[in-house]
Amino acid sequence: MRVVWILGDQLHVDHPALHRADRNHDRVLFIESRQRSQQVRYHQQKLVLIFSAMRHRAEALRAEGWKVDYVELTGRFSDALVDYIRQYRPDSVLVQEPSQFAFRQALPRLSRKLGVPVEILPTNQFLVAEKDFKAWAGQSRHLLMENHYRRVRKKLGILIEPDGKPTGGAWNFDSSNRETYAAFRKRGPKLPQPPRSDPDHVTRQVIALVKREFPDHPGDAADFWLPVTREESLRWLHDFIANRLNHFGPWEDMMVADEPVLFHSVLTPMLNIGLLSPRECVEAAVSAYKAGGAPLTSVEGFVRQIIGWREFINGVYWLRMPGYEELNELQAVRPLPSWVYTGETELNCLRHVLRQVIATGYNHHIQRLMVLGNFFLLGGFAPDAVLRWYTEMYVDAHDWVMAANVIGMVLHADGGFMATKPYAAGAGYIHKMSNYCGGCRYRPDQRTGPDACPFNFLYWNFYATHRERFATNPRVGMMIKTWDEKPSAEKAAILQQAKDFLESGSSDH
Ligand SMILES: Cc1cc2nc3c(=O)[nH]c(=O)nc-3n(C[C@H](O)[C@H](O)[C@H](O)COP(=O)(O)OP(=O)(O)OC[C@H]3O[C@@H](n4cnc5c(N)ncnc54)[C@H](O)[C@@H]3O)c2cc1C
Ligand code: SF4
Repeated sequence: MRVVWILGDQLHVDHPALHRADRNHDRVLFIESRQRSQQVRYHQQKLVLIFSAMRHRAEALRAEGWKVDYVELTGRFSDALVDYIRQYRPDSVLVQEPSQFAFRQALPRLSRKLGVPVEILPTNQFLVAEKDFKAWAGQSRHLLMENHYRRVRKKLGILIEPDGKPTGGAWNFDSSNRETYAAFRKRGPKLPQPPRSDPDHVTRQVIALVKREFPDHPGDAADFWLPVTREESLRWLHDFIANRLNHFGPWEDMMVADEPVLFHSVLTPMLNIGLLSPRECVEAAVSAYKAGGAPLTSVEGFVRQIIGWREFINGVYWLRMPGYEELNELQAVRPLPSWVYTGETELNCLRHVLRQVIATGYNHHIQRLMVLGNFFLLGGFAPDAVLRWYTEMYVDAHDWVMAANVIGMVLHADGGFMATKPYAAGAGYIHKMSNYCGGCRYRPDQRTGPDACPFNFLYWNFYATHRERFATNPRVGMMIKTWDEKPSAEKAAILQQAKDFLESGSSDH
């Protein structure tokens, strides 16, 4: 007898070990590990998502005739496995390779501890295999997502015409996909009802468990709102395709206070644990385009997020680990202020985005990148603290997706390996793309003085601090030149205000 050990983010119907195993002879095992759940203080709703989805998956497999063993919240994986192996004496353990580097590295040791072979099967949860990505990346000192995206699109034949050209004659439609908040107010479409799933009795039990066992983790398990089954996840996918995809592209960068979802898909929580596959999400979007249900600008924009960004981010993780998570090229050392866990700040954009993630475990990409990430970058906050914070706060957080997004994209801590310039912006960007500034005590149009928006003086302070590094970067050289040409008095005022703001612990703001 063999045992198939299914991890909490490997709930896909296509699990390779299930293909290998025989439901008449082999068994399936799920373990909820307290030690794993406390590696960082994961958002309570993330724990509900994983545990409830595991319990539902176990039930579904039982219904398909598998013999399933389920270990509810216990100490460590390894101790639970030792007990299990003592009881059932399997010939081997079949497991799909874990999505976390350290976990994958630990499996041979685990096998020795268990005294039975642990057979590790390659993951099939991504469209691009790690070795394929590594072969493409080679020894490059910089990687461009756009090159990866075009290569994969061609290879998979997604939105590619018979002559090999991209559908619509262009690889991307980003220029049509940057609609502002002002445009939305003038002629934006009506916002659809955001998706929501009601907890069933299994989820309600898990909510009670998480509230009891993980009370100091962020968020409130009781507000859980996500799907935990394959069927419900498919319903969410179809709801996105039918009601939001058509407007996804043009409005994907816009932010509206108290409207967390807008036209986004909110599919990552399910995608990242296997309840949906990237292929079916892409195929659903492309089919909608072919059926005339969604414009190419939106469909290409969505396809780019999945086969472009998602696969690229995973590729970079496996290419650059170990060591990537520890990079700190800009030598940022500031500890995070405590208000990132409460949202108690006068910066209105941050207040809204933080309160939203505390309440739901979700922000859309621009909130993560251009509000929070921008603030962490400009403020010089330490990468390990920022990485930990993002990992704690998001329902869709997993090590493979966090590393490159935080270390590479947000903090430029990898020295520009995957982003040719830092994603740094002053208040102008947030003002243009959102309605946050209207309700703020700061003024987005002021660079210094008591009402000046902190994003403005922190922005110039950032480029002044890293002047040498970026002076020769063609994409930001202009900013450095602008800084250099500012009158000395203005420069001094900006630097002083940034210093005062950051040294006040940023905690009172
Ligand atoms: C600092 C930071 C932290 C992030 N943390 C996470 C995270 O913990 N988990 C996570 O899955 N994504 C993360 N992302 C990427 C992206 O922000 C989220 O995937 C997206 O916001 C999820 O919402 P959605 O499903 O509504 O996505 P949509 O806006 O509807 O986008 C569609 C899909 O594209 C994919 N995607 C788009 N951009 C990225 C990206 N940069 N990396 C990976 N996938 C991408 C996702 O699978 C997403 O479901 C992070 C980005 C940044 C900048
Ligand atoms: S003024 Fe500045 S702090 Fe206030 S909402 Fe706008 S960007 Fe954010």
